Amino acid sequence: MAEQINILSYPIEYLKGVGPLRADWLKKELNIFSFNDLLNLFPYRHIDKTKVSKIQDIKLETEFIQIAGKLEDIQILGEKKSKRLIATLRDDTGEVELVWFQGINWIQKNLYEGNYYLVFGRIVFFNNKPQIVHPEIEIFSSQNTQGKEYLEPIYPSTEKLKSKGLSGRQIAKLTYALFSQIQTQNLLENIPENICKNLQLMNRYDAYKNVHFPSSLKEYEKAVYRLKFEEFFIAQVRLNLIRLQRHKVSKGLVFEKVGNYFNDFYNNHLPFELTNAQKNVLRQIRQDTAKGHQMNRLLQGDVGSGKTIVALLCMLLAADNGYQSCIMAPTETLAQQHFNTISSLLEKTNISISLLTGSTKGKERKTIIENLSNGNIHLIVGTHALIEDVVQFKNLGFVVVDEQHKFGVAQRAALWKKAKIPPHILVMTATPIPRTLAMTAYGDLDYSVMDELPKGRQTVTTVQRNEMQRIHVMEFIRTEIEKGRQAYIIYPLIEESEKLSYEDLMQGYEEVKGYFPEPKYRISMLHGRMSTEQKEVNMQRFVSGKTQIMVSTTVIEVGVNVPNATVMVIESAEKFGLSQLHQLRGRVGRGSEKSFCILLTGSKVSNEAKERINIMCQTNNGFVIAEKDLELRGPGDVEGTRQSGALNFKIASIVNDKGLLEKAKEEAEKLLEEDMEMNLAKNLSLKNYLLQQKGKTNWSKIS
Ligand code: ADP
Ligand code: MG
Repeated sequence: MAEQINILSYPIEYLKGVGPLRADWLKKELNIFSFNDLLNLFPYRHIDKTKVSKIQDIKLETEFIQIAGKLEDIQILGEKKSKRLIATLRDDTGEVELVWFQGINWIQKNLYEGNYYLVFGRIVFFNNKPQIVHPEIEIFSSQNTQGKEYLEPIYPSTEKLKSKGLSGRQIAKLTYALFSQIQTQNLLENIPENICKNLQLMNRYDAYKNVHFPSSLKEYEKAVYRLKFEEFFIAQVRLNLIRLQRHKVSKGLVFEKVGNYFNDFYNNHLPFELTNAQKNVLRQIRQDTAKGHQMNRLLQGDVGSGKTIVALLCMLLAADNGYQSCIMAPTETLAQQHFNTISSLLEKTNISISLLTGSTKGKERKTIIENLSNGNIHLIVGTHALIEDVVQFKNLGFVVVDEQHKFGVAQRAALWKKAKIPPHILVMTATPIPRTLAMTAYGDLDYSVMDELPKGRQTVTTVQRNEMQRIHVMEFIRTEIEKGRQAYIIYPLIEESEKLSYEDLMQGYEEVKGYFPEPKYRISMLHGRMSTEQKEVNMQRFVSGKTQIMVSTTVIEVGVNVPNATVMVIESAEKFGLSQLHQLRGRVGRGSEKSFCILLTGSKVSNEAKERINIMCQTNNGFVIAEKDLELRGPGDVEGTRQSGALNFKIASIVNDKGLLEKAKEEAEKLLEEDMEMNLAKNLSLKNYLLQQKGKTNWSKIS
């Protein structure tokens, strides 16, 4: 079977009605290269082709409508950009204006005044008259509308394609031609029979047939349900297979014991008692690392939940077992900070620790590289400078990737190749990500959650204020400073090179200085155009309390820890995304004092931005915020997730089909636990399917 060429892999130009030119356009505009790609271009709706509306019944702007009538008054108006072709479609009850801005020549050649046409499109009103811009149009014949209910699929198309005669309706004709060639054996079942039965899934061939050309609305819904489940299920099988293979097959380092480094630190130098959540995660990691298989674990904790100390304890565990470890941060500022925190925590121990970043140069760099390769350094903190080829470890055993989304997959893979047996890996996200995203984008990793903040933390009170209230906001900062506290004022920065934002920041800085004049007050500033040294100096002045106010762009965003800061003012808060706002707010409320986050907004705030700000004012819970973020923005853009093929679902949605995803995960796990090799008779069809698809997916470790 596997050897036989499936017709679905044929190039699209082999399809009747396509040819080389159209094939090119289909590739360019819709990414359709093969029969299979076309098969997986799903219609976004169906219309009942037998239903033709009367023009007089058009009272409102409607989504889509089908009308039929005589074409009159074709004329071209306007010049250049406003050049357009206009015509009138008249039935015996009224008229609708048809307008084209593109493909005018083609339209002009192919439409004739006085002929009857069937027209389909979205109605808008222009000068109180109904109008359709870029309608789909074809010669009207009684055949169009004859017969019983017929649900015609409408496919997504583009203006370009429409002008090449490939409207959504034309594409329907191609799909129709495709189905005349496809048989059941081209779409063999790939979900085990027992699962199909349990969930009453439509079979695979029927599902594809009915999603395109449904025999009824009910059949259509069953088809969609099956295809969504299939999509989730196959993805979950793949991801969980990687995870389970790592548990059962791959080799990993064995951390046998808890030794002096760990115990001494834990008993004598730990500045606080661990939260239960921290203890649980440590226990999980201890178990993972003792088994002889590689650990690859995602640690999700809310901002301030204390991930760093967990990472540190793991690295001590590695040292106890004779292994080196590293912690990789996304920016120099953050690496520097981790280094400072960790060095001071480890001050009274014999762990040797170093910092390696892009600005570690010359002799210092040479020494560090030497000491890494001869094992004199136990623990190294760094940025992506750690990945460079010249950096070699004697025996790297534990890797922590902090605020992981800033690193590419390839970068991380490069890091673990530095050892013969791959080190254990702990990936920590900056803010929580929604469960469904974790299940798909990180489904190959094991997964820990810390949903508890250290004792004594107070929730940060968050309010929105506008431009008019700026003076009050500044006065509020002043009272906090009088109490000995510090404040952040953050400006948006989309691109670090953006000139405008830079000017905004400088202007803001001057303004803040006006409110808080020297020498009574001192202000630090941080932005992307500064050198690393400048940044470091400014940061340190704030950390040590020499300055009371930090004016910064979002370079401050991730991970920075100054417990004495109690006010976070975010300028133009409407311009920030939810997870970024949450991450920024997490810079305060890190000590025992009551903290505040003030979201300053301009006069123009979109509804979506209003919603973001409301959510921020209502909750401090990063897990809740992550879910809302996903709902508001959809899966493509959520910060803190890797851009992953695993998220490119064609028909299923991790936002709208959560329940189905859970079900698919459950079934996939059950199946693999029972039969990881998929050798049982009931699982062979799935195995065959995955083998056939093998070239199309990356089966190697993808994290
Ligand atoms: P994040 O999870 O956001 O990276 P950090 O690791 O930076 O958080 O920890 C935030 C702050 O909480 C730090 O000042 C840290 O010392 C402190 N902290 C961590 N764990 C505890 C704990 N169990 N009890 C009290 N404070 C803690
Ligand atoms: Mg952190």
